[in-house]
Amino acid sequence: MAKYVFVTGGVVSALGKGIACASLGNLLKARGLKVVLQKFDPYLNVDPGTMSPFQHGEVFVLDDGAECDLDLGHYERFTDTDLAQIHNLTSGRVYETILARERKGEYLGRTVQVIPHVTDEIKRRIMLPAQSDPTVDVVITEIGGTVGDIESLPFLEAIRQFRLENEPEDSASLHLTLVPYIAAAGEIKTKPTQHSVRELRSIGIQPDFLMCRTCQPIGDEARRKIALFCNLPVANVIDGRDVASIYEVPLTMHEQEFDRRLCRRLGLDTPEPDLTEWRRMVALILDPPDRVRIAIVGKYVELKDAYKSISEAFIHAGIPNRAGVDQIWIDSESLEGEEVGDARLREVFAGCHGVLVPGGFGDRGIPGKVRAIRYARENGIPFLGICLGLQCAMIEIARDVLGLERAGSAEFDPDTPHPVIHLMDKQKGIVNLGGTMRLGAYPCRVENGTLAWQCYGRPEVSERHRHRYEVNNDYREAFTRAGVVFSGLSPDGRLVEIMELPTHPFFIAAQFHPELKSRPRRPHPLFRALVGAAIAHRDGAVARATGRAAG
Ligand code: GLN
Repeated sequence: MAKYVFVTGGVVSALGKGIACASLGNLLKARGLKVVLQKFDPYLNVDPGTMSPFQHGEVFVLDDGAECDLDLGHYERFTDTDLAQIHNLTSGRVYETILARERKGEYLGRTVQVIPHVTDEIKRRIMLPAQSDPTVDVVITEIGGTVGDIESLPFLEAIRQFRLENEPEDSASLHLTLVPYIAAAGEIKTKPTQHSVRELRSIGIQPDFLMCRTCQPIGDEARRKIALFCNLPVANVIDGRDVASIYEVPLTMHEQEFDRRLCRRLGLDTPEPDLTEWRRMVALILDPPDRVRIAIVGKYVELKDAYKSISEAFIHAGIPNRAGVDQIWIDSESLEGEEVGDARLREVFAGCHGVLVPGGFGDRGIPGKVRAIRYARENGIPFLGICLGLQCAMIEIARDVLGLERAGSAEFDPDTPHPVIHLMDKQKGIVNLGGTMRLGAYPCRVENGTLAWQCYGRPEVSERHRHRYEVNNDYREAFTRAGVVFSGLSPDGRLVEIMELPTHPFFIAAQFHPELKSRPRRPHPLFRALVGAAIAHRDGAVARATGRAAG
């Protein structure tokens, strides 16, 4: 039987439970175990696909098209594994399943209740990943939200039952808490942790390990106090102090022998992990020999979590380039309006060596993105467009190079005379919003001799998507005549996946989301190339082309 680790959080949200789970997964994998991570979110949405990035940050997309919580991105990045829909569950999905069964009469006349029906379904889902893959050694299940929330109760009750119904060494519970530092008193405080653990114990779950998030080292005295009040061994109180890079967390956990103690608790006999490579990588992230600045022009820039995977992809891409990437976040709306002239754009982009325009939905911020793209194109600044970023690049080129002044996308400009971006055929007639976009991994054919080919070095790649609109094939010929190269297409040739401008030092855009596949030890080729091009641009190694396509 697989072993189970349940991870809960208390005191406050945003403790970094996802990173803690991912880091633990990383260490267990390094100990030779096959680990799978899953996240259970107590909210009622069936999945986060219909939510704004302002709610829970970006929507992460998996190979199978699942739209899920951004923590699954951390899980994939830290363990270098591909997850699937079954690894993200919400209360909404639990109820959807139960209600469908009820309508079919499968409960045989019984009253359907939270206990046992909802908790049974949660327990089934706890075990599903190991049941569908018998080679799995450890399943780490993160429960979203904070202990004490009404909506997380059924999940905690299911864990209590699971622990009761299985042997003690079959599972372990890790609880994350906050140990605040009170500056005026010059002290850290353990009381919130005590209260949070009391709450958890009142539900019937005694945590085996505590990870105390803190900005100050907790020290032996506080550790002993926490252990005593929370009823666990002192060595099982892990100091979860703030670190400069999330990729350090596995190392700080390992220093405290967390992985060794957890394996012992679960009766897993495994060798010590070899973290040399990981340590070397972290050292380079923390102290890179070089730095380069890349501007990201988006509309959710106030909330960094909205572009989490992009931020991480830049950190990964810096590693082989031996450079730290300073990410300069620019609100695309700040580039709009008559008063924003070329001088202002020069000021905004001064010192930026590359520009990225990320994905997005709706009309807000589009003119600013188009402006940023024009600036990058005309000034030979390396540019990468992602999804909406590709669509905006096509609009910009259509307006400025093809002379189609009012070119636009049917998404936010339904009356445009030149819909260079239009709704995909398969999207026509779809009315429901949840789970209906073109989602997940699709193959893309890469044209030989192009920049895309230089980046990938392969004729076919698989990339993840999340969109409804696409390049309108009626305009493809005109674009090609104007110098645009469609260097990545769907295998049937019908769908534009990558476009580029060979007359520009580095101008490339993708309809898919490369950031979703970037891993610290396998940076995404497009991000890696953008960072390389930005360094070259900074050093003046690339001839400043005007970026104006011929024709
Ligand atoms: N809104 C665009 C579409 O649906 C782009 C989506 C995105 O950037 N993820 O096609």
